[in-house]
Amino acid sequence: MSRFLSKNYEKLVPYVPGEQVNVKVIKLNTNESPFPPSPKVLEVLNSEVINKLNLYSDPELKELRSAIAEQFGVTPDMVFCGNGSDDVLAFAIMGFCGRGGSLACPEISYGFYPVYADIFGVDLEQIPLNDDFSVNVDDYIGKGKNIVIANPNAPTGLAFGVSEVEKIVASNPDNVVIIDEAYMAFCGMSCSELVKKYDNLLVVRTFSKSHSLAGLRVGFGIGSKELIADLNKLKFSFNPYNINTLSIKAASAAIADNEYYDDRISRIVATRERITAQLRELGFNCTDSKSNFIFASSDRINASELAAKLRERGILVRYFNKPKIDNYLRITVGADEDMDTLIKSINEILEEKK
Ligand SMILES: *Cc1c(COP(=O)(O)O)cnc(C)c1O
Repeated sequence: MSRFLSKNYEKLVPYVPGEQVNVKVIKLNTNESPFPPSPKVLEVLNSEVINKLNLYSDPELKELRSAIAEQFGVTPDMVFCGNGSDDVLAFAIMGFCGRGGSLACPEISYGFYPVYADIFGVDLEQIPLNDDFSVNVDDYIGKGKNIVIANPNAPTGLAFGVSEVEKIVASNPDNVVIIDEAYMAFCGMSCSELVKKYDNLLVVRTFSKSHSLAGLRVGFGIGSKELIADLNKLKFSFNPYNINTLSIKAASAAIADNEYYDDRISRIVATRERITAQLRELGFNCTDSKSNFIFASSDRINASELAAKLRERGILVRYFNKPKIDNYLRITVGADEDMDTLIKSINEILEEKK
């Protein structure tokens, strides 16, 4: 730390992203898709677009917001786009909860929520999950605070229904409810329809997981046009060109290619179910994940030891050294052959222990 960092940030504990590597490993640690993006993405990233990079990107993001709006049956003024959904979450927590405002979130959830709460000076309440890791929806009914919940939740993979989201949103009319649907494509529902009925709901989505575009950095929020106007006010006060021209083009092409992504998503879901069943046969306890990862623990080996042994074999999975989940691994659903290698390796590791 230099002598110059503001005292306000001295105690900030940053979010720790999953490791990125350059050597050949089986990478099941950051919930990326095993599939390449839609071929339509390659088509639009052509020399015509590249030759226009002398110009600034469109700060209004008209093309991208229209493409997203069309998919979700809303108007473009109900869509806000960010440099990854992290950017959207940051603007939302800054704008609706910052400088002494309130926020409630599950105690076990996406690691960025407490970090954003901290950096923006938010009074954060972290609410324990049920013993089975499900979100106790009743804890959020009439809470009287802003709320952020990942649904499906991370790293547990568990989801709750649209009617439950509606109860939370309807019972907190004077606060913003942020539902982070980073993994919802793998669950097959969405509460995005509710934004037409409630002005206090922001549904956050990302291209990173379901659309094989983690490296592109595009996410979005859908909400009432007043909420979206607030987010744009912040964005234009901070970083008006938060999405570059290449990302605008690529994401706009990707979101329209339902045929490609529906197929890839259903393949990932099928692999998730197949591998979950195999892990259960090996005695693992797996949550009923509705996402593109499996959350698993075993009585036969502790999670940190298993993560280390898998790593020695070139397989990366995510281990969180955190109370209540420190005997669980979060394993991204990867390509079928890589998942088969995972199962084989786990078998061998368990055999060695006998
Ligand atoms: C991955 C993830 C995000 C962030 O994704 P971006 O790559 O920034 O779009 C947000 N929320 C949850 C719960 C996630 O797992």
